[in-house]
Amino acid sequence: MHDPVDIRRRIDRLAARVDRRDDYGRLLARGDVVHRIDDVEDVDAWRAEIKRQARADRIKVRTGANEHIAFAYIAGGLTAERASEARRYTDIMQRAVPLAVLNQHEPSPLVRDGDEVVCKCDRCSALGYANAEEDIIGGELFEDDCPNEEDPRMTNLGLMYFGRGPVA
Ligand SMILES: [Zn+2]
Repeated sequence: MHDPVDIRRRIDRLAARVDRRDDYGRLLARGDVVHRIDDVEDVDAWRAEIKRQARADRIKVRTGANEHIAFAYIAGGLTAERASEARRYTDIMQRAVPLAVLNQHEPSPLVRDGDEVVCKCDRCSALGYANAEEDIIGGELFEDDCPNEEDPRMTNLGLMYFGRGPVA
């Protein structure tokens, strides 16, 4: 079990760091940024601003919008560094998410940045933190039972990293 005070501090730090970023900063950090179309006031201006900043940094981006979403992503796919980050992330989620499911939570992603992720339970206040680089998994979501009595619903995150049955 990981020190809950340390986990709480890590969650706060991650949330603050992600909060400070604008969309272009998120794009650089994550490789893509997506909004519901209703949340973007002026789609053309939003796309133009992303492209302007990307041009200044000599980074190729694609932007677009449809009736549901506005999006931007870095063109050219994953760098080698990004690809190994993605592998580390998948590996730690395959170990962390089943803990939340077995604890009867309904895990969903809340914030992700690089090697760090915070997940929450959809039906209680439990948070969980995982750090793929430092190999840390902690927080109520992964360590304590969900207080709800009813059987949990399987979430998308649960399906992605755990599946419908027990781990073989
Ligand atoms: Zn729960």
